[in-house]
Amino acid sequence: MRFVGIRELVILLVMTVAPAWSMAHELNRPMGSILTNAETAELILCSNAPDLDELREILAEIRRDDLRANEIIRRMRSFVKQSPFEAREIDPYATIREVFEFLSGQASARNVTLELQTSAEPLRVKADPVQLQQVILNLIINGMDALADVPDGRLVIGRTEGNGGTSALISISDSGPGIPAEKLNRIFDPFFTTKAQGMGIGLCIARTIVLAHRGRIWAENRTAGGAVFRLTLPLSAH
Ligand code: ADP
Repeated sequence: MRFVGIRELVILLVMTVAPAWSMAHELNRPMGSILTNAETAELILCSNAPDLDELREILAEIRRDDLRANEIIRRMRSFVKQSPFEAREIDPYATIREVFEFLSGQASARNVTLELQTSAEPLRVKADPVQLQQVILNLIINGMDALADVPDGRLVIGRTEGNGGTSALISISDSGPGIPAEKLNRIFDPFFTTKAQGMGIGLCIARTIVLAHRGRIWAENRTAGGAVFRLTLPLSAH
C-alpha cells in the first residue's frame, strides 16, 4: 500500500468537503429566515386576535425561502456531479462564471459585489473544470473573507484575458486590506492562516492544482488597495 502523507490526505479531504462548506454557508440564509418566520408565526398565533394577513405573508415568505434552499441544493448537486479529474478543452471564462453564479447568494448575504470581466478574444485551455472551479471558489471566498471588516465598497472582481498568446491569465482581486508584505510569500504554505477559524490549506491546494495544470499562481497587492491573485494556464494549443 502506498503511504499517503498527512498533507496529501488533508488536501484530498478538503477537495471533497470544500463545496459542502460553501453550500452550508449559502443555505444559512434561507434556513435562518425560515426559522425566524416560523417563530414569528408562533408568536402571532399566541395573540388574542392573530393577524391573518400577516400570517399569510409569513407563509409566502417561508415558501419562497424553501424554494430558494431547494435551488441551492440542486445547483450544488450539479456542481459536484461533474466527473472529477477530467482535463478537457474549456473556455475558462464560462467555467469561472459558474462559480460566480454559484456564490452570488453568499456574496449578497455578505454585502459583497461580485463582478466578472473578460477580454474580447476567445480563450481555450485544457483543464479539469471542477478543479479549476475549486481554485476560483477558494480565491473568491478568501476575497470575501478579507472584506469582512471593510465598511463599504466591498468588491471582488474576476477577470480572464490572454497572456502573450501562450496562456490564459485569470485574476481574482478584492477591495480588502491586502496582504501584509511579510506574509506574501507564506500564504501558499500549508496550514498558514491568519483567520480564527481558518485551516490554511485553501491556497496550498490551489497551488497544487494550478501546478498540475502546468500553470502558475501568485499573489500581489494592488496599488489601489486590496489583494489580487493571478494564475496562468497554458492555452490548449501549447
Ligand atoms: P484560510 O482561508 O483557511 O486561512 P488559505 O490558504 O485559503 O487558508 O489562505 C491563507 C491566508 O492567506 C489567509 O489566512 C489570509 O491571511 C491570506 N489571504 C488569502 N486571501 C487573501 C485576500 N484576498 N486578502 C488578504 N489576505 C488573504
